[in-house]
Amino acid sequence: MKHRDIGEEIRRRGFRRWYERQLVESHAYLVTAFLSLILLLAGFEAMGELRGSPVYYLAVVGIAGGAGTLMWVTWQRFTVLLARAELFAESAGCPRCQTWGGFEVLAAEPVSADDPPEAGRPHWVRVRCRQCSEQWRLG
Ligand SMILES: [Zn+2]
Repeated sequence: MKHRDIGEEIRRRGFRRWYERQLVESHAYLVTAFLSLILLLAGFEAMGELRGSPVYYLAVVGIAGGAGTLMWVTWQRFTVLLARAELFAESAGCPRCQTWGGFEVLAAEPVSADDPPEAGRPHWVRVRCRQCSEQWRLG
């Protein structure tokens, strides 16, 4: 997955859109995790029924192993992205004028290009209210 700059994304779309997209993206990972689980269970079932050929057995073990890994990674992404979206949304209201989501991103925790989504970076962003110029931190 392509690395994205959270400040740039919020600047372009606004915080509300960013938040909605995070919800959609995290739930897409949840669906993927669920489908991987089904594949994993199907693999276990196939292992129990297979007789003979070690090649097929290894193929089934490989598929089940891949499905298990995919399930673990996508589950991590789901929980991490959803938790961060909720955390940011909770503190998205301006402490001074209460405007929700109406801010510019001033700074964010540095994210390197090879950070996977499940690392959940940036864990914080520093923002400034468009209404009253109050500054505070999300996350
Ligand atoms: Zn404000």
